[in-house]
Amino acid sequence: MNNQKVGILGGGQLGRMMVEAASRLNLSVTILDAPTDAPAKQIESTQAHIHGAFKDATKIRELAENVDVLTVEIEHVDAHVLSEIEAEGKVKVHPSAKTVKTIQDKYFQKQHLTSHGVPVSEYLDTPNEVAVLAAGKQFGYPFMLKSKTMAYDGKGNYVVKTEADVKPAMEALKNLPLYAEKWAPFVKELAVMVVRRANGEVRAYPMVETIHKNSICHLVIAPAQVDGAILSKAQEIAMDAIKTFPGAGIFGVEMFLMQDGSILLNEIAPRPHNSGHYTIEACDTSQFENHMRAILDMPLGSTAMKVPASIMVNILGSSTDMVECYKPCHEALVTDGATIHLYGKKECRAGRKMGHITVVGESMMQAQERLKPILKAMEPDVE
Ligand code: ATP
Ligand code: MG
Ligand code: MG
Repeated sequence: MNNQKVGILGGGQLGRMMVEAASRLNLSVTILDAPTDAPAKQIESTQAHIHGAFKDATKIRELAENVDVLTVEIEHVDAHVLSEIEAEGKVKVHPSAKTVKTIQDKYFQKQHLTSHGVPVSEYLDTPNEVAVLAAGKQFGYPFMLKSKTMAYDGKGNYVVKTEADVKPAMEALKNLPLYAEKWAPFVKELAVMVVRRANGEVRAYPMVETIHKNSICHLVIAPAQVDGAILSKAQEIAMDAIKTFPGAGIFGVEMFLMQDGSILLNEIAPRPHNSGHYTIEACDTSQFENHMRAILDMPLGSTAMKVPASIMVNILGSSTDMVECYKPCHEALVTDGATIHLYGKKECRAGRKMGHITVVGESMMQAQERLKPILKAMEPDVE
């Protein structure tokens, strides 16, 4: 289909699902990640993967030597060496190193978005305690103190409820560069995947609703059960935001729907995203396949849903007990419309993403009914 070799920085579940999509198109993918048995490496035996950190400039260069296009499954990579490689021009970098660099620092990302007129919650730089206290005065309480860098699954966020929380918040996030964000009392969290080809063509997937638990994505409901006019506006905001970031690839856009119907953009991921896993079973072309097509400058596939409704639930570790963690999968085996994805992780930890299950249905009500026993297996005590 395409002779260009792809190199991915990062070999977790997102890389693994990219490899799955790539293999159907006979595309060759080489992974850079430290574990020799990283999830993505396990299922691609035709390439000599690189064992090393995706922050290690030497290892990134070694990967670049062996491929034609570099991409990422995580934004917390060495963006500086990516920009050098991009400038040298032998290897393409998608999305552009500049995009990765802007997005990997949430404060920088927010500045970029505001400078392009994208609506976001108010934010302030907080280099010290005085500045954090000043943010409390300006925004009121609660507000969110966030790490600018290295954040995922809510790690790096602290809800500052009163002035007395300022010290413990700074202690909890110590050694991280911080900024403050005004609290967004949203009614729902929405997300949308947007894909862009190198020639500038942009396509959006349907809007979905995400439900988080302890700041980790729990459920993704597709399509979002929200007024169509609001969804069109949110989709437009997301597409306009993505058009400001150079390079090809798929992006996950997280948003807050406010009481008055307005939308605030929370953050953008320059890669496949948890809120887009449903696209594997529920859309004409999955987010992973469209990412591959985009970075290789192949025609983008349709982003339309091919089923009326789907719900994805993450399989998270509750402890180190792997058997406990996989219980919902046994229920999914006997559920019509359910597809299990396990990531091949060798160790289970509380809150670790071990897999996901997507349930599709002829209606949202049917998808909900089908999901019920799976959720029950996950949380036997919850009615
Ligand atoms: P991810 O795993 O999505 O990368 P993250 O660690 O980058 O997460 P955020 O997306 O910034 O963290 O925040 C995690 C969750 O915290 C959000 O999905 C939302 O539920 C809540 N949240 C974040 N910012 C705010 C805010 N300003 N006001 C209210 N809630 C917020
Ligand atoms: Mg994030
Ligand atoms: Mg987030």
